[in-house]
Amino acid sequence: MAANQDSVLAKRVVVIGGGVAGSVIAKSLQFTSHLTLIDPKEYFEIPWADLRAMVEPSFAERSVIYHKDYLTNGNIVTSKAIDVKQNQVVTADGRSIAYDYLVIASGHSDPYPKTRTERLKQFHSDYEKIKSSQSILIVGGGPTGVELAGEIANDFPQKKVTLVHNGSRLLEMLGPKAAKKTLDWLISKRVDVKFNQKVNLSNLAQGSKEYSTSSGQIIKADSHFLCIGKPLASEWLKETALGNSVDESGRLMVDANLRIKGCKNIFAIGDITDLKEMKQGYLAQEHSAVVAKNIKILISGGSEDKMSTYKPTSKAIAIVTLGRKNAVAQFPFLTLSGFLPTSIKSKDLFVGKTRKLMGLH
Ligand SMILES: Cc1cc2nc3c(=O)[nH]c(=O)nc-3n(C[C@H](O)[C@H](O)[C@H](O)COP(=O)(O)OP(=O)(O)OC[C@H]3O[C@@H](n4cnc5c(N)ncnc54)[C@H](O)[C@@H]3O)c2cc1C
Repeated sequence: MAANQDSVLAKRVVVIGGGVAGSVIAKSLQFTSHLTLIDPKEYFEIPWADLRAMVEPSFAERSVIYHKDYLTNGNIVTSKAIDVKQNQVVTADGRSIAYDYLVIASGHSDPYPKTRTERLKQFHSDYEKIKSSQSILIVGGGPTGVELAGEIANDFPQKKVTLVHNGSRLLEMLGPKAAKKTLDWLISKRVDVKFNQKVNLSNLAQGSKEYSTSSGQIIKADSHFLCIGKPLASEWLKETALGNSVDESGRLMVDANLRIKGCKNIFAIGDITDLKEMKQGYLAQEHSAVVAKNIKILISGGSEDKMSTYKPTSKAIAIVTLGRKNAVAQFPFLTLSGFLPTSIKSKDLFVGKTRKLMGLH
């Protein structure tokens, strides 16, 4: 190996978070650096495939992917990062991992188990829960609650589904047209959607099938699913040397090269960044591509001026699935449901495309 190549490989890159953004950048830097991925789980999962896996557990066989399957030349540390020091990351299991370049991609905190086997079991038990319930309460009218309601309404049309949302319309991150089309579809599938109220879950009696809401309604359901969104995984950062880089909403402030403002060798990508754009996985993957390129330039001794910049987009596309046979898409100047968005997302949920990106069949 040439001396120059040796010194490139000696550069240590640490990626925190093996989600949509972190897994892709780890994969793309594994042969050009000494790469370590830190993630509390031994797998990467495609988040938007989870709702399908709850009604069809075998779907998760392809959407929950061992990190070792795509990271064949990197180190995998299955633990949480709990501290960032000047040149090392400390993990919950007591390790200190040195870095020359650090990428923070911790996105959202998920309460998922450490092993893939346990995660697949969860999908099976969600499926059994759905199958054995005649009536199901879904709490939350964001993308997770809506997509779950769509999957259940499509695959189990005989079940009574009630969706309770504390806002005045569904899918608040999208425009009112998308919300209206979604509501119309759910109503056409006999999903009972209730707005402007919260379900009281704090003192629910064991085995109770009656749920009270903040507006005094009683909803009867055999089971419930909580779909209220996952918190940003930045709480831990506030106590570290990067605490001042976390803004009021818990996001990391980045510059145009996606470096944390004021840092020479620490980057952030994905939902954890303060980039003013819709938080979408495909954009998180674009951040990964920019930062991978920038780190390659820096580790090979290139000038900082050569680094790529990222411009947040005001024209993000979002597609919300409504079961296997429908979807609502919001394009920059057009919102539509039916054949086009369905054919883009609903059948495979981008699982094939994502696996291909990870170099898998
Ligand atoms: C229902 C739903 C449908 C969606 N549909 C789409 C879609 O169709 N297309 C699309 O592009 N986007 C979609 N999205 C958005 C997309 O899922 C997110 O934008 C994307 O997951 C963000 O990726 P990320 O890597 O930044 O964060 P995440 O995917 O949240 O990954 C973060 C990773 O960091 C890990 N982590 C957290 N804390 C730590 C720590 N302290 N140390 C180490 N690791 C840590 C987590 O365990 C996780 O593995 C959807 C979202 C939802 C909820």
